Amino acid sequence: TPLVELKNVSKVYPATVKGAPDVTAIDDVSLRIDAGDVYGIIGYSGAGKSTLVRLVNVLERSTAGQILIDGRDVAGLPERELRPVRLGIGMIFQQFNLLNSRSVARNVEYPLEVAGRDKATRAARVAEMLDFVGLGDKAGAYPDQLSGGQKQRVGIARALATSPALLLADEATSALDPETTHEVLELLKRVNQEFGVTIIVITHEMDVIQTLATKVAVMDQGRIIERGDVFDVFSNP
Ligand code: ADP
Ligand code: ADP
Repeated sequence: TPLVELKNVSKVYPATVKGAPDVTAIDDVSLRIDAGDVYGIIGYSGAGKSTLVRLVNVLERSTAGQILIDGRDVAGLPERELRPVRLGIGMIFQQFNLLNSRSVARNVEYPLEVAGRDKATRAARVAEMLDFVGLGDKAGAYPDQLSGGQKQRVGIARALATSPALLLADEATSALDPETTHEVLELLKRVNQEFGVTIIVITHEMDVIQTLATKVAVMDQGRIIERGDVFDVFSNP
Protein backbone atom coordinates (compact mmCIF):
# COMPACT_ATOMS: atom_id res chain seq x y z
CA THR A 1 0.00 0.00 0.00
CA PRO A 2 1.07 3.59 -0.50
CA LEU A 3 2.39 5.32 2.64
CA VAL A 4 0.40 8.50 2.04
CA GLU A 5 -2.69 8.78 -0.09
CA LEU A 6 -4.99 11.74 -0.56
CA LYS A 7 -8.32 11.10 -2.24
CA ASN A 8 -10.23 14.14 -3.47
CA VAL A 9 -9.09 16.24 -0.53
CA SER A 10 -10.26 19.82 -0.12
CA LYS A 11 -9.65 22.38 2.58
CA VAL A 12 -11.75 25.52 2.73
CA TYR A 13 -10.99 28.28 5.23
CA PRO A 14 -13.98 30.42 6.14
CA ALA A 15 -13.68 34.09 5.21
CA THR A 16 -11.74 36.01 7.84
CA VAL A 17 -13.48 39.27 6.96
CA LYS A 18 -17.26 39.49 6.84
CA GLY A 19 -18.52 39.49 3.25
CA ALA A 20 -15.23 38.23 1.81
CA PRO A 21 -15.25 34.88 -0.02
CA ASP A 22 -14.08 31.65 1.66
CA VAL A 23 -10.53 30.55 0.76
CA THR A 24 -10.16 27.17 -0.95
CA ALA A 25 -6.58 26.34 0.05
CA ILE A 26 -6.73 22.75 -1.26
CA ASP A 27 -9.09 22.01 -4.12
CA ASP A 28 -9.92 18.35 -4.81
CA VAL A 29 -6.36 17.00 -4.61
CA SER A 30 -5.59 13.33 -5.14
CA LEU A 31 -2.04 12.15 -4.53
CA ARG A 32 -0.28 8.86 -3.85
CA ILE A 33 3.16 8.69 -2.25
CA ASP A 34 4.77 5.25 -2.01
CA ALA A 35 7.05 4.10 0.81
CA GLY A 36 10.64 5.01 -0.04
CA ASP A 37 9.76 7.93 -2.32
CA VAL A 38 11.30 11.36 -2.11
CA TYR A 39 8.32 13.32 -3.34
CA GLY A 40 8.60 17.03 -4.10
CA ILE A 41 5.72 19.47 -3.91
CA ILE A 42 6.53 22.76 -5.58
CA GLY A 43 4.53 25.93 -6.12
CA TYR A 44 4.48 29.67 -5.53
CA SER A 45 3.56 31.22 -2.21
CA GLY A 46 -0.14 30.70 -1.52
CA ALA A 47 -0.40 27.59 -3.71
CA GLY A 48 -1.50 25.46 -0.74
CA LYS A 49 1.73 23.58 0.07
CA SER A 50 1.81 24.28 3.81
CA THR A 51 -1.87 23.49 4.14
CA LEU A 52 -1.21 20.14 2.49
CA VAL A 53 1.56 19.42 5.03
CA ARG A 54 -0.68 20.34 7.96
CA LEU A 55 -3.37 18.00 6.62
CA VAL A 56 -0.92 15.10 6.26
CA ASN A 57 0.34 15.37 9.83
CA VAL A 58 -3.20 16.09 11.00
CA LEU A 59 -2.50 19.46 12.54
CA GLU A 60 -5.57 20.48 10.57
CA ARG A 61 -8.67 18.67 9.37
CA SER A 62 -9.72 18.52 5.73
CA THR A 63 -13.11 19.83 4.65
CA ALA A 64 -13.63 16.92 2.25
CA GLY A 65 -11.94 13.75 1.06
CA GLN A 66 -9.85 10.98 2.57
CA ILE A 67 -6.28 11.10 3.88
CA LEU A 68 -4.75 7.66 4.31
CA ILE A 69 -1.50 7.23 6.23
CA ASP A 70 -0.22 3.68 5.88
CA GLY A 71 -3.69 2.64 4.74
CA ARG A 72 -5.51 4.25 7.65
CA ASP A 73 -7.94 7.14 7.12
CA VAL A 74 -6.82 9.83 9.55
CA ALA A 75 -9.36 12.45 8.49
CA GLY A 76 -12.01 11.00 10.78
CA LEU A 77 -9.82 9.81 13.66
CA PRO A 78 -10.54 11.24 17.10
CA GLU A 79 -7.82 13.40 18.66
CA ARG A 80 -6.59 10.75 21.13
CA GLU A 81 -5.91 8.28 18.29
CA LEU A 82 -3.84 10.84 16.37
CA ARG A 83 -0.91 10.79 18.80
CA PRO A 84 0.67 7.58 17.48
CA VAL A 85 0.05 8.77 13.91
CA ARG A 86 1.86 12.06 14.60
CA LEU A 87 4.74 10.22 16.31
CA GLY A 88 5.21 8.31 13.06
CA ILE A 89 5.76 11.54 11.15
CA GLY A 90 8.88 13.70 11.54
CA MET A 91 8.96 17.36 10.55
CA ILE A 92 11.66 19.88 9.74
CA PHE A 93 11.02 23.58 9.25
CA GLN A 94 12.41 26.67 7.56
CA GLN A 95 13.14 28.35 10.92
CA PHE A 96 14.32 25.05 12.51
CA ASN A 97 11.95 25.47 15.51
CA LEU A 98 14.54 24.40 18.10
CA LEU A 99 14.02 25.17 21.77
CA ASN A 100 16.69 27.77 22.62
CA SER A 101 16.62 27.04 26.34
CA ARG A 102 17.54 23.39 25.74
CA SER A 103 20.90 22.00 24.69
CA VAL A 104 21.31 20.25 21.35
CA ALA A 105 21.06 16.84 23.05
CA ARG A 106 17.94 17.86 24.99
CA ASN A 107 16.29 19.11 21.79
CA VAL A 108 16.85 15.75 20.11
CA GLU A 109 15.68 13.98 23.25
CA TYR A 110 12.38 15.87 23.37
CA PRO A 111 10.27 13.66 21.03
CA LEU A 112 11.64 10.57 22.81
CA GLU A 113 10.31 11.96 26.11
CA VAL A 114 6.93 12.61 24.49
CA ALA A 115 6.96 9.02 23.21
CA GLY A 116 7.66 7.76 26.74
CA ARG A 117 11.04 6.10 26.11
CA ASP A 118 13.15 5.35 29.19
CA LYS A 119 16.26 7.34 30.01
CA ALA A 120 18.87 4.85 28.80
CA THR A 121 17.06 4.33 25.50
CA ARG A 122 16.80 8.10 25.03
CA ALA A 123 20.49 8.69 25.71
CA ALA A 124 21.59 5.99 23.29
CA ARG A 125 19.27 7.23 20.57
CA VAL A 126 20.34 10.87 21.00
CA ALA A 127 24.01 9.90 20.67
CA GLU A 128 23.27 7.78 17.60
CA MET A 129 21.31 10.55 15.87
CA LEU A 130 23.86 13.27 16.64
CA ASP A 131 26.58 11.04 15.21
CA PHE A 132 24.50 10.44 12.11
CA VAL A 133 24.12 14.18 11.43
CA GLY A 134 27.79 14.83 12.25
CA LEU A 135 27.21 16.78 15.46
CA GLY A 136 28.46 14.28 18.02
CA ASP A 137 30.69 16.98 19.51
CA LYS A 138 27.87 19.53 19.90
CA ALA A 139 25.60 17.65 22.31
CA GLY A 140 26.11 20.21 25.09
CA ALA A 141 25.92 23.30 22.86
CA TYR A 142 22.87 25.56 22.68
CA PRO A 143 21.04 26.41 19.43
CA ASP A 144 22.22 30.04 19.37
CA GLN A 145 25.84 28.81 19.31
CA LEU A 146 25.24 26.97 16.02
CA SER A 147 25.23 27.98 12.35
CA GLY A 148 22.03 27.67 10.32
CA GLY A 149 23.19 24.44 8.72
CA GLN A 150 24.07 22.96 12.11
CA LYS A 151 20.66 23.98 13.48
CA GLN A 152 18.91 22.20 10.63
CA ARG A 153 21.03 19.10 11.23
CA VAL A 154 19.82 19.16 14.85
CA GLY A 155 16.30 19.52 13.43
CA ILE A 156 16.85 16.42 11.32
CA ALA A 157 18.23 14.45 14.28
CA ARG A 158 15.20 15.46 16.36
CA ALA A 159 12.74 14.63 13.56
CA LEU A 160 14.20 11.14 13.16
CA ALA A 161 14.71 10.32 16.84
CA THR A 162 11.51 8.26 17.13
CA SER A 163 12.24 6.45 13.83
CA PRO A 164 9.31 7.80 11.83
CA ALA A 165 8.51 6.25 8.44
CA LEU A 166 7.74 9.68 7.00
CA LEU A 167 9.62 12.98 7.09
CA LEU A 168 7.94 16.24 6.06
CA ALA A 169 10.41 18.95 5.04
CA ASP A 170 8.61 22.31 4.77
CA GLU A 171 10.95 24.85 3.09
CA ALA A 172 13.72 23.23 5.16
CA THR A 173 16.57 24.86 3.23
CA SER A 174 14.94 28.19 2.37
CA ALA A 175 16.78 30.05 5.16
CA LEU A 176 20.19 28.58 4.22
CA ASP A 177 22.90 29.72 1.80
CA PRO A 178 23.51 27.62 -1.33
CA GLU A 179 26.50 25.68 0.06
CA THR A 180 24.73 24.82 3.32
CA THR A 181 21.58 23.97 1.36
CA HIS A 182 23.61 21.46 -0.64
CA GLU A 183 24.98 19.83 2.56
CA VAL A 184 21.53 19.52 4.10
CA LEU A 185 20.06 18.06 0.89
CA GLU A 186 22.88 15.49 0.77
CA LEU A 187 22.09 14.55 4.37
CA LEU A 188 18.40 14.14 3.53
CA LYS A 189 19.36 11.88 0.63
CA ARG A 190 21.20 9.68 3.13
CA VAL A 191 18.14 9.68 5.41
CA ASN A 192 16.12 8.27 2.51
CA GLN A 193 18.74 5.80 1.30
CA GLU A 194 20.14 4.51 4.61
CA PHE A 195 16.98 4.54 6.76
CA GLY A 196 14.40 4.08 4.00
CA VAL A 197 12.49 7.10 5.30
CA THR A 198 9.90 8.46 2.87
CA ILE A 199 10.35 12.21 2.44
CA ILE A 200 7.90 14.86 1.28
CA VAL A 201 9.80 17.97 0.26
CA ILE A 202 7.82 21.22 0.17
CA THR A 203 9.60 24.07 -1.57
CA HIS A 204 9.27 26.99 -3.97
CA GLU A 205 12.78 26.25 -5.34
CA MET A 206 13.17 24.05 -8.39
CA ASP A 207 16.84 23.35 -7.56
CA VAL A 208 15.84 21.65 -4.31
CA ILE A 209 13.44 19.35 -6.15
CA GLN A 210 15.99 18.55 -8.84
CA THR A 211 18.68 17.71 -6.28
CA LEU A 212 16.60 15.62 -3.93
CA ALA A 213 13.27 14.41 -5.31
CA THR A 214 12.44 11.65 -7.78
CA LYS A 215 8.79 12.60 -8.21
CA VAL A 216 7.12 15.97 -8.14
CA ALA A 217 3.69 17.57 -8.05
CA VAL A 218 3.34 21.19 -9.12
CA MET A 219 0.69 23.08 -7.14
CA ASP A 220 -1.16 26.23 -8.11
CA GLN A 221 -4.23 27.73 -6.42
CA GLY A 222 -4.84 24.62 -4.36
CA ARG A 223 -4.67 22.22 -7.28
CA ILE A 224 -2.05 19.89 -8.70
CA ILE A 225 -1.47 21.24 -12.20
CA GLU A 226 1.28 18.84 -13.21
CA ARG A 227 2.94 15.74 -11.77
CA GLY A 228 5.32 12.95 -12.62
CA ASP A 229 8.99 12.00 -12.56
CA VAL A 230 11.17 15.05 -11.86
CA PHE A 231 13.12 14.50 -15.06
CA ASP A 232 9.96 14.48 -17.22
CA VAL A 233 8.21 17.39 -15.51
CA PHE A 234 11.20 19.72 -15.69
CA SER A 235 12.70 18.75 -19.03
CA ASN A 236 11.93 21.29 -21.72
CA PRO A 237 10.71 19.76 -24.99
P1 ADP B 1 -3.73 15.76 -13.17
O1 ADP B 1 -2.78 15.26 -12.17
O2 ADP B 1 -3.24 16.99 -13.87
O3 ADP B 1 -5.14 15.90 -12.65
P2 ADP B 1 -3.29 13.23 -14.48
O4 ADP B 1 -3.55 12.80 -15.91
O5 ADP B 1 -1.90 13.16 -13.95
O6 ADP B 1 -3.84 14.71 -14.38
O7 ADP B 1 -4.24 12.41 -13.54
C1 ADP B 1 -5.64 12.36 -13.70
C2 ADP B 1 -6.24 12.03 -12.35
O8 ADP B 1 -5.75 10.76 -11.92
C3 ADP B 1 -5.85 13.02 -11.28
O9 ADP B 1 -6.70 14.14 -11.22
C4 ADP B 1 -5.91 12.17 -10.05
O10 ADP B 1 -7.24 12.09 -9.57
C5 ADP B 1 -5.45 10.82 -10.52
N1 ADP B 1 -4.00 10.67 -10.31
C6 ADP B 1 -3.00 10.84 -11.20
N2 ADP B 1 -1.80 10.63 -10.64
C7 ADP B 1 -2.05 10.33 -9.37
C8 ADP B 1 -1.22 10.04 -8.27
N3 ADP B 1 0.12 9.99 -8.32
N4 ADP B 1 -1.82 9.76 -7.10
C9 ADP B 1 -3.16 9.77 -7.00
N5 ADP B 1 -4.00 10.06 -7.99
C10 ADP B 1 -3.45 10.34 -9.16
P1 ADP C 1 1.83 27.89 0.51
O1 ADP C 1 2.36 27.05 1.60
O2 ADP C 1 1.93 27.23 -0.84
O3 ADP C 1 2.41 29.27 0.50
P2 ADP C 1 -0.59 27.97 2.08
O4 ADP C 1 -1.02 26.58 2.27
O5 ADP C 1 0.11 28.65 3.19
O6 ADP C 1 0.25 28.08 0.73
O7 ADP C 1 -1.88 28.88 1.71
C1 ADP C 1 -2.84 28.51 0.72
C2 ADP C 1 -4.01 29.50 0.77
O8 ADP C 1 -4.74 29.30 1.98
C3 ADP C 1 -3.60 30.95 0.76
O9 ADP C 1 -4.56 31.68 0.02
C4 ADP C 1 -3.64 31.32 2.22
O10 ADP C 1 -3.88 32.70 2.37
C5 ADP C 1 -4.78 30.49 2.73
N1 ADP C 1 -4.63 30.11 4.15
C6 ADP C 1 -3.64 29.35 4.68
N2 ADP C 1 -3.81 29.17 6.00
C7 ADP C 1 -4.97 29.82 6.30
C8 ADP C 1 -5.71 30.02 7.51
N3 ADP C 1 -5.31 29.46 8.68
N4 ADP C 1 -6.84 30.75 7.46
C9 ADP C 1 -7.25 31.30 6.30
N5 ADP C 1 -6.62 31.16 5.13
C10 ADP C 1 -5.49 30.43 5.13
